[in-house]
Amino acid sequence: MLRKETDVIICGGGPAGLLTAALAARGGLEVVVLEEHEKVGVPAHCAGILGWRCWESLPYRPREAVVEETREISFIFPEDKVDLTMKKPAVIVNRAVFDAKLAEEALRQGAEVVTEARALGGRELGDGVKVCVKLREGVVFIRGKYLVGADGARSIIRKMVGEHMSFDIGVQLIRSRKGCSSLEVYFTPPLPPGYFGWRIPFGELEKIGVVAPLHRGRLLWKFSEKVFTIGEISHIEGGLIPRRLVRKMARGRVALVGDSAGQVKPISRGGIFLGSAGAITLSEALLAGEKLETYEKRWRRRFLMELEAGLALRRILESLSWHDLRKVFSMASSCLREHPIEVDLDGQASFIFNSTRTCLPSIARDLRLAAQLIKGLGTAVLGGVLLELAAPYGSSSLGHRYCYADK
Ligand SMILES: Cc1cc2nc3c(=O)[nH]c(=O)nc-3n(C[C@H](O)[C@H](O)[C@H](O)COP(=O)(O)OP(=O)(O)OC[C@H]3O[C@@H](n4cnc5c(N)ncnc54)[C@H](O)[C@@H]3O)c2cc1C
Repeated sequence: MLRKETDVIICGGGPAGLLTAALAARGGLEVVVLEEHEKVGVPAHCAGILGWRCWESLPYRPREAVVEETREISFIFPEDKVDLTMKKPAVIVNRAVFDAKLAEEALRQGAEVVTEARALGGRELGDGVKVCVKLREGVVFIRGKYLVGADGARSIIRKMVGEHMSFDIGVQLIRSRKGCSSLEVYFTPPLPPGYFGWRIPFGELEKIGVVAPLHRGRLLWKFSEKVFTIGEISHIEGGLIPRRLVRKMARGRVALVGDSAGQVKPISRGGIFLGSAGAITLSEALLAGEKLETYEKRWRRRFLMELEAGLALRRILESLSWHDLRKVFSMASSCLREHPIEVDLDGQASFIFNSTRTCLPSIARDLRLAAQLIKGLGTAVLGGVLLELAAPYGSSSLGHRYCYADK
């Protein structure tokens, strides 16, 4: 039975929403989670790779969801391959089980998790928020003190606060396992520079996937055909991936968390680490009765440097041609083979900067390549400045203040 009045209304029963719900309910708040699907975690759209830092930072660690653990990671470049290790094993989780266990925890802490409940829109009233929900039985309104948009990449709550987003796409096929024993990351054509593919073990199965520019999800086939013999496929899944952080994660009584806020790593596009850190920080602000803007400030203080550095690196990679990238990657692989460094899935910009430092002498010897990289850096900085300047116009013209008229 859906409560009509509550402290916190959370739209979206993914990891970000469920963690926020469990932590806020544990602290004594009344929480309602609205999930549009029949079951939380289904359909899944995730490879499920969590770096050790992410796994250890989770307040709830459902072991039942862990399918694989590995310290080995291979980077495959057009002409080369480097095998590296991580300080501690990364885990690969089954997202359907992971999300279901988080939902159980939220329920155990006293939150109400309502499935087949689709938020159609919401608005801020003077002393609270009001959300319009489509249930099987019909449309109802619920009121709360706070509204949390944890409704993923396509968030409607994000539109409500006037933010807009650009996307990449992630798609993967699942098939029976054919010799895959560690994480494999492919920076190779036919994927465009700055994008990548993967193959990971998943119990009896393996997942082969790509992150590609929006509308180019078919690159999955070209990539898979080029690198593997595809054979029989169990199924395919995918989803949108935000390309950047929103300009504002919190306004008044409304906050965004997880993919809806664009809390996604710029290089690998993984969202669970930053989204769960968002959930922890947001629930602390809710429990302390602080302004939601303090959640945003704390989250940004912790992650902004890493994110900005990651975005700049991605812009550099995207600005290079495959001709230049081949050289960069072959230098990187020979340097990394000589001076291996530990891969940190949750500190990717620092890992790449450290690897680049070891390559600097080789890059400096190739003047044309050095010039291309400097040009790429210039483009990255200029691109970042232009995006920052353009964003307010984009968000005000594309966003909608409210998604439904007040009744
Ligand atoms: C192919 C692919 C592979 C990926 N692999 C990884 C990986 O290995 N590691 C990693 O860290 N990240 C990965 N990601 C990203 C990761 O899946 C997301 O960052 C993560 O799921 C975000 O969690 P979230 O809770 O913010 O949103 P979601 O998990 O998207 O959850 C949002 C929930 O809100 C619900 N919802 C949406 N709209 C409404 C509405 N109006 N009303 C009610 N409910 C609504 C949805 O049904 C959904 O359950 C991958 C993404 C893709 C596409």
